[in-house]
Amino acid sequence: MSSNEPDVTVLGAGIVGLCTALALQEKGLRVHLIDRDDPGQATSFGNAGIISPWSVVPQSMPGLWKKVPGWLLDPLGPVTIKPSYLPQVAGWGLRFLYEGRSTRIGPISEAMDLLNRDCIALYRQHLQGTGEEEIIRNSYYVHAFRNPAEADPDSTDYLMRRDKGADIERIGAEELHRLEPALSAEFQAALLIKGQARCLSPGRLGTVLAAKFQKQGGLFQRLSIKAILPHQNGGWLYNGLEHSGWTPKLVLAMGVWSAELLKPLGIKIPMQAERGYHVSFTAPGVSLNHSVMDMDMKFVASSMEEGLRVAGTAEFAGLDAPINQKRLEGLVRLASGMLPDLQSGQFSTWSGQRPSLPDSLPCIGEIPGFPDLIAAFGHSHYGLMMAPKTGRLVADIASNTSANLDLTPFNPLRF
Ligand SMILES: Cc1cc2nc3c(=O)[nH]c(=O)nc-3n(C[C@H](O)[C@H](O)[C@H](O)COP(=O)(O)OP(=O)(O)OC[C@H]3O[C@@H](n4cnc5c(N)ncnc54)[C@H](O)[C@@H]3O)c2cc1C
Repeated sequence: MSSNEPDVTVLGAGIVGLCTALALQEKGLRVHLIDRDDPGQATSFGNAGIISPWSVVPQSMPGLWKKVPGWLLDPLGPVTIKPSYLPQVAGWGLRFLYEGRSTRIGPISEAMDLLNRDCIALYRQHLQGTGEEEIIRNSYYVHAFRNPAEADPDSTDYLMRRDKGADIERIGAEELHRLEPALSAEFQAALLIKGQARCLSPGRLGTVLAAKFQKQGGLFQRLSIKAILPHQNGGWLYNGLEHSGWTPKLVLAMGVWSAELLKPLGIKIPMQAERGYHVSFTAPGVSLNHSVMDMDMKFVASSMEEGLRVAGTAEFAGLDAPINQKRLEGLVRLASGMLPDLQSGQFSTWSGQRPSLPDSLPCIGEIPGFPDLIAAFGHSHYGLMMAPKTGRLVADIASNTSANLDLTPFNPLRF
């Protein structure tokens, strides 16, 4: 191998691929990073910016099935399924509900804790020396409730967080409106999850980390990947539109697009595209001091560099389905309900596809039976916060320096 050839090639420069590329460099490895687009501009561009060591509550919880029909019937509700797509998502949905049984949520929570616990410190390490350290700011996560009786720090979700060490405080209406004066007086109580951070521009974070990667000697290439296959003498071949290449080790970090690339190898991953939306009000006239979740309508609002962003919705309609304009209009209405003085005339909109697996956990690790092909995809609702630890784990695997950690919850072939 010539000295210009990489030790590892990472396919996909979303936040997971970027953090992985940086972690591989920290191991002294030569890294080649490939994306069909500029780094960090797909799903990782428009998220809600939450970076939480205390995101240890799986998406699927016992009893959730009782709420789903109501959500599906509400045009402003947090979940929607395109009727014609129902047959394609039904099996996934049943598995998702099954993963929410009482005996499963504890182990899933443990695995989430492993990925999220150090997320803030790991981001600060990656940002060190970039001059952009302030793009991540300490924050509370304000869970705001209209019905004060529901703001219960002893309910299962919050007990799970507290069990992992989260500092959670319940506050009443008066204190909530002192903390976040822009919030509607309809909110009567909140649970403050402390010790979190928020990103002020997830899209720009990708650009900053990509610049650091390249400054440290990493090679970034624009290439649309069409296929990967094992080479007869070891390592992996990747075929792109204009170029093909070989690499000793291949990391697959293409988010929701990863599963398609694995199908020709006979590897089946139960991935669903879970579309989310955001609206960024560019002259909002109000601001928030923290990340705030409307606990009734399940969307998040945060003041960012680009404006006041509201983000949410889980829409199952297939990877290539067009944007659902009604969801964006719904988010504008929800934002005005949450923030009565919001000036909602000027805004930009966005939508992205969460790479979602039924158990809220990503696939991380060498794919059994496929030496030197390492999975780093499927981070669903948590890709921003789970990316730095995912990168570290992948770098340990690629450099054969793995710590004694149990990675079976992330086994790509666990389903
Ligand atoms: C509305 C919304 C809000 C969210 N809020 C949060 C939050 O607050 N906190 C949090 O932690 N997570 C949040 N998430 C989830 C998070 O955004 C995702 O989990 C994360 O962005 C996934 O990152 P990724 O790198 O795996 O995928 P992506 O960012 O999608 O990156 C995949 C990359 O692969 C590239 N690619 C795809 N196909 C090819 C190909 N054929 N050839 C070459 N390159 C290719 C793409 O161009 C892309 O750059 C949110 C998601 C949504 C939709």
